[in-house]
Amino acid sequence: TWFDFNQLLLELVEDLQRTTERHQIIPELQPIGSVYADKDRIGQVLTNLVTNAIKYSPDADKIIVKAKVVDGEVSVCVEDFGIGISHDKKDKVFEQFYRVSGDKQHTFPGLGLGLYISSEIVKREGGRIWVNSVPGQGSTFCFALPIKQM
Ligand code: ATP
Ligand code: MG
Repeated sequence: TWFDFNQLLLELVEDLQRTTERHQIIPELQPIGSVYADKDRIGQVLTNLVTNAIKYSPDADKIIVKAKVVDGEVSVCVEDFGIGISHDKKDKVFEQFYRVSGDKQHTFPGLGLGLYISSEIVKREGGRIWVNSVPGQGSTFCFALPIKQM
């Protein structure tokens, strides 16, 4: 269905903000307008990415959610300032049940399914998902959707 993309992102940011006291979740959204896609599924992807950003940045205080339109694609990025992901694991994190093992200071609960499910959803919508990261500094997870705009 058609839905207001900015409105969905802002609603979810508001909901997710209530789940964390440490982090400020900051939306930096270009006006995107109405988009045709599976609203609930796209919401699930954003929720998975922000939930991860919260979980894997226990010592950070902000998370940035960006959205923009480039070349007929809508792209959304979730940036955190947490533990990061080493280069050799950046593709593996999208595999089913894959988890990077924790260090001595932190153990993070989870099944290793959130990113796999997110990548399946994004692919089904004709888009792609990727991550840039610097270990010890943070991660930026992005997805892009080739969406018809009204
Ligand atoms: P769940 O199924 O509850 O989502 P999970 O968070 O472990 O469990 P994924 O969301 O699929 O599973 O993430 C897979 C792995 O990728 C995580 O276990 C973690 O090691 C790594 N990861 C995901 N997001 C981040 C992030 N923002 N920063 C650092 N590592 C991350
Ligand atoms: Mg997860």
